[in-house]
Amino acid sequence: MGAAPYRSWAEVSRGQIAENFRRVRGAVGPGVEIVAVVKADAYGHGAVEVSRVLEAEGARWLAVSFVEEGVTLREAGINARILVMADCPTFAQSALVEYNLTPVVQSLDNLRELDRSLGGDAGRLRYHLKIDTGMGRLGTRAGAAEIAQAVGQAACLELEGLMTHFASSADYSNARTDRQVRSFHQLCAGLREAGIAPPYLHMSSSNPVAYGRREAWHNMVRPGHALYGYVSPARGDAAPQRVLDVAPALTWKARVVTVKEVPEGALIGYGGMFRAPHPMRIAILALGYSDGLSHRLSNRGHVIAGGRLAPILGAVSMDLTTIDVTESRSVRVGDAVTLLGADRGVSINAQEMARTAGTISYDILCGIRARVKRVYVE
Ligand SMILES: *Cc1c(COP(=O)(O)O)cnc(C)c1O
Repeated sequence: MGAAPYRSWAEVSRGQIAENFRRVRGAVGPGVEIVAVVKADAYGHGAVEVSRVLEAEGARWLAVSFVEEGVTLREAGINARILVMADCPTFAQSALVEYNLTPVVQSLDNLRELDRSLGGDAGRLRYHLKIDTGMGRLGTRAGAAEIAQAVGQAACLELEGLMTHFASSADYSNARTDRQVRSFHQLCAGLREAGIAPPYLHMSSSNPVAYGRREAWHNMVRPGHALYGYVSPARGDAAPQRVLDVAPALTWKARVVTVKEVPEGALIGYGGMFRAPHPMRIAILALGYSDGLSHRLSNRGHVIAGGRLAPILGAVSMDLTTIDVTESRSVRVGDAVTLLGADRGVSINAQEMARTAGTISYDILCGIRARVKRVYVE
């Protein structure tokens, strides 16, 4: 792809996404359904293309955050079940039926309202109910009796799953996740006694899969990050070994637009944030913060140029970024440098870039803007 005619582009490996999905399947085994999370345009990888790859790999379930994301997948011909995890506002409810999307209901009010507005004409729409076991974000905090009553009264809806979401799933330094697991199990037991036992129970995103927290797998898991090749580092002495080996699927590149020599003392870019301590060779890259390269990488990040780490010099600008190629004599105008990925044995991944930028890998991946062309490779 060295000849890709773009200023900045992201190569997404279909094969690596498929391999990561197979690894997750291998880890959880055949008895556990995988809901492949493709929200936020598949964490910047392109939801339609990633969903096609996953469907071809046998994925029966996908998850998005918003109804519009589900509609986009349906319009692209995706047939898998689609779980809409984050909301279903009134204006979007008819689309749930029309596009065969499965909502996650976030509260008992939400449940009653959805039941009323659907009426009887849609058939029984299947839904999953989110329980807030300690995340303190979406989900009902009601007890089993109250939930059982509301579920029983929702005549136009069919409860297909109970779910919760962890706040600190890679943190083994405290008992927060254990408490969430216990609280979910107690609630499920209470609901079972009240005659409510939906086909699916699910709590686990990538980390509880990757660290083998089997009591949180039940018969469905919801990995996102792992499908793109990442697992958060575990915290705490009691952290178990990873049972999941995945690799990044996205390589981010940009072109060199200019290479030049500057003398000792030259100031580089906005605010003169960098002063050349000696004569330097610099290269200007055709991307900046409007492509998603964090401004916080100004004067601190690196890219890979000519198979070597090249420091970012001065401020990352809107459309341009300057790097030091004094040590990379072979770099020429038109060459591609690597922001994320590997070149001749040197690599930078989204977790490393995130650490330098003071954020998280999710933010780095989702932050790669639409103007960065996605190119799919095998
Ligand atoms: C984003 C999300 C996931 C996937 O999380 P990863 O850490 O990317 O695996 C799972 N469940 C819910 C509710 C989410 O919002």
